[in-house]
Amino acid sequence: MAATSRGTSPVPPDVRPRLTVLSGPSGVGKSTVVAHMRKVHPEVWLSVSATTRKPRPGERNGVHYFFVDNEEFDKLIANGELLEWAEFAGNRYGTPRQAVLDRLEAGEPVLLEIDLQGARLVRQSMPEAQLVFLAPPGWDELVRRLTGRGTESQEVIERRLAAAKVELAAEAEFDTTLVNTSVEDVARELLTLMLQASGLRGTDD
Ligand code: ADP
Ligand code: 5GP
Repeated sequence: MAATSRGTSPVPPDVRPRLTVLSGPSGVGKSTVVAHMRKVHPEVWLSVSATTRKPRPGERNGVHYFFVDNEEFDKLIANGELLEWAEFAGNRYGTPRQAVLDRLEAGEPVLLEIDLQGARLVRQSMPEAQLVFLAPPGWDELVRRLTGRGTESQEVIERRLAAAKVELAAEAEFDTTLVNTSVEDVARELLTLMLQASGLRGTDD
């Protein structure tokens, strides 16, 4: 008898890496954790989202986000180019679909850093995705981090804190919670979760 066919896919479906979604309230440290993980492991691929938000100082187009205007974002939606999208605190954010599918098809673990609404949409369309919630050590520390970042006006901070209450209440919807006390520890734990979900081993560094 012939061996089980693996078709034309470069990676058999049973070991195709799962998508990992990292969510958590604004200011909890998602970008910091992901940046640290990628400094240590540059091979980890992170989806670059499109957003209508204006760049913060130091943010680069195509690196941190694809910064687009409302009209361009409308087109991305209309052309079906977004895997998911959501409005968050007055701006729209979305995950370019094709790049994610290409990486998964190529057998690479894929990381999305998106909000709660996006995480819920991914869960619907890709139930095999692994959902990781990044939690703050406490509410006061979250407020300190968001305010201390110094990138938002008081009005935007208030909006983001209101959204944070909703996001914190949804923690139980996620597969795993990591508490961001130490950036290094959380980055290591996140990488281990991604590798385990992909059927690969965790690391020691
Ligand atoms: P997010 O991407 O979740 O909105 P950021 O990564 O921008 O959050 O982090 C918000 C602020 O908190 C930044 O000033 C960052 O330096 C700080 N921060 C992140 N992680 C920690 C941590 N473990 N301990 C203390 N401060 C942190
Ligand atoms: P920020 O403006 O602080 O960079 O991001 C605000 C929120 O939008 C964060 O919770 C971040 O995870 C989320 N976000 C970033 N990109 C996307 C995306 O492509 N889709 C969704 N749904 N949320 C995103």
